[in-house]
Amino acid sequence: MRWFRKQDPPRSEGQAEEIQELDSLRDAIQRSAMPDAAREVALRELERMEKMHPDAAEFSIAMTYLDYLLSMPWNVMTEDNLDMARAQAILDEDHFGLYQVKERILEYLAVRTLRRSSPFNILVVDDEQIARQNIAYVLSKEGYKLSTSPSGVKAMDLLRSRRFDLVITDLKMEGVDGIELLRHIKEFHPDTSVIVITGYATVETAVKAMKIGACDYLPKPFELEELRRAVARSLEKKRAEQELKGPILCFAGPPGTGKTSLGKSIARALERKFVRISLAGVRDEAEIRGHRRTYAGAMPGRIIQEIRRIGSINPVFMMDEVDKLGHEFKGDPASALLEVLDPEQNKQFVDHYLDVPFDLSKVMFILTANVTDLIPPPLLDRMEVLVLPGYTDDEKLEIARSHLIPRLLREHGLWEGKVAFSPGAILRIVRDYTREAGLRGLERELASICRKLARKALEPGALSDGILIEEDQVPEFLGPRRHFRELTDERDRIGVVTGLVWTEGGGEIVFIEATCMKGKNSLLLTGSLGEVMRESAMAALSYIRSNARSLGIDEDLFLDRDVHIHVPAGAIPKDGPSAGITIAMALISLFTGRPARREVALTGEMTLTGRILPVSGVREKLMAAARSGVKEVVLPAKNRLDADSAPKKTLEALKLHFVDYLEEAIDVVLKRKGEGDSPI
Ligand code: ADP
Repeated sequence: MRWFRKQDPPRSEGQAEEIQELDSLRDAIQRSAMPDAAREVALRELERMEKMHPDAAEFSIAMTYLDYLLSMPWNVMTEDNLDMARAQAILDEDHFGLYQVKERILEYLAVRTLRRSSPFNILVVDDEQIARQNIAYVLSKEGYKLSTSPSGVKAMDLLRSRRFDLVITDLKMEGVDGIELLRHIKEFHPDTSVIVITGYATVETAVKAMKIGACDYLPKPFELEELRRAVARSLEKKRAEQELKGPILCFAGPPGTGKTSLGKSIARALERKFVRISLAGVRDEAEIRGHRRTYAGAMPGRIIQEIRRIGSINPVFMMDEVDKLGHEFKGDPASALLEVLDPEQNKQFVDHYLDVPFDLSKVMFILTANVTDLIPPPLLDRMEVLVLPGYTDDEKLEIARSHLIPRLLREHGLWEGKVAFSPGAILRIVRDYTREAGLRGLERELASICRKLARKALEPGALSDGILIEEDQVPEFLGPRRHFRELTDERDRIGVVTGLVWTEGGGEIVFIEATCMKGKNSLLLTGSLGEVMRESAMAALSYIRSNARSLGIDEDLFLDRDVHIHVPAGAIPKDGPSAGITIAMALISLFTGRPARREVALTGEMTLTGRILPVSGVREKLMAAARSGVKEVVLPAKNRLDADSAPKKTLEALKLHFVDYLEEAIDVVLKRKGEGDSPI
């Protein structure tokens, strides 16, 4: 049944409106900036609509679709501000510290800028002066930087001292001819493209040149327009290759370390719009790539939705928590994401709903993750990871004073000068009310105090003289302390060893407990032990049993006993087997009756032969150790360089012991027998 053929007279008022609407839709499609391929699809859809009843569900689905196509910002983009000094000022203004990360971001921006704005260098080689000059003249008008050379030999000389993006060479020259020059370039300057000009347009020479690696050839005589096009074609390819080489930045670190805020600063510096989505739990490829339109309630993927919402094709697009991308694949979200991020493919990104290619190549994608271990490897390959390990207490104090508090006061209508926090108060909040690598908790607690102060400010005369919040007033605002430093309050025990683990929240200390009781020689494991930790525990026990004698342990001890290992703390470590050395030490402490010093913390993977292998997250672990009051840390010798990258303050607070074998750590951690309580 055809309701709305244009030649049919409309049957009622409603239908007349419908036709009018479709006509104006056609106008809008014609006027829209969408590419021709999209316009064709849109017009075809419109034609389909003209044949439908406006009450049909399909009609409104098609209408929504056309609306979507029309409202996409096909070619709307913001102009980049490429002033690097300004970008640096903005990054510094928004962020305390993070020098290396900021430096790397600026380098990244600088390279992008240069790559895009620097003109291509072209060398024209021809022994005929007029030809040489003509070509150079025409191409310099196009904005390229031109050099010329009258011979192949001179061209080789020039190539040694300067880099050229493209060489245009005649084939027939005295001395070194074009083919020889081409061979030379392909061997010694493989990044330089070559177009050959051949006087005798014989197919063989052209084929030969292309075989050796020329990207194009021009038979003489040629139109200038042909030359322009050939040059533009080869350089466009080059530009795309260069873009491809650019990595995608990924900020990795615990929550609250400034990842989002760095992304926002980059957007502010470039004067681009800022978008942020979370990839946490994205299991279905359709969330990225969209649902096919034929499904009821179909929608575009998150990328296209956000681009439409923000109304620009070149925003800074932050994708959070790429390490939490769903693993139970329905489709493959990681490969869909790869397609979004790959400059070679994202120029023509096809969302299933949109169904026509959309250019994502101008978007600046930035990814974030808490830990990099869980990022799918093909994605990790495309990224350059910038690590934000977290802040020391002193850095937190500084950031609170210079950034968080002034901003929070403004946001709460409290004016600076009237309200101030003493350094002691800030540190007390950091130590007793938060336990984190980042600043989220601190910001939350400070905001909570600001809210209470805002209420106070409305009581007549309450804050008229201003207020300085001192250390001992903190509990008045925030209630009793929430965190205790377990280390300082406890005694050294037998079978309880302090370990360092790496979790999503940064580094953390855990206490690994081992005990044994009468039984049948079995191993019990409880607490937050992941599968890998279980294996570490078994390996540790086997090592100790096989080396019992040299460790001073009675071998018969194992015969009629069950061993129980427990990790009481909540968070599950993300760094696999790094608790091996700690578990082994807890067992040695247990079987030798030597108490373990709580203020010594350990991390290291252990092999069956007692060798200690390097682990990840060393910087984060050291910071956690210092934060928790640990005094000494035992680390794998191979992690020495990683340890050096920890903040100076952290290193000053800790004594580090680097070991290759478990035995080297025993006397550092264990006291003499009888120095602690509770023997087995
Ligand atoms: P993330 O995205 O890593 O979870 P955010 O960027 O949301 O962390 O940071 C949490 C808060 O801490 C924000 O208010 C942010 O402005 C602030 N912040 C983080 N790092 C810094 C820093 N180096 N200097 C100033 N403020 C910071």
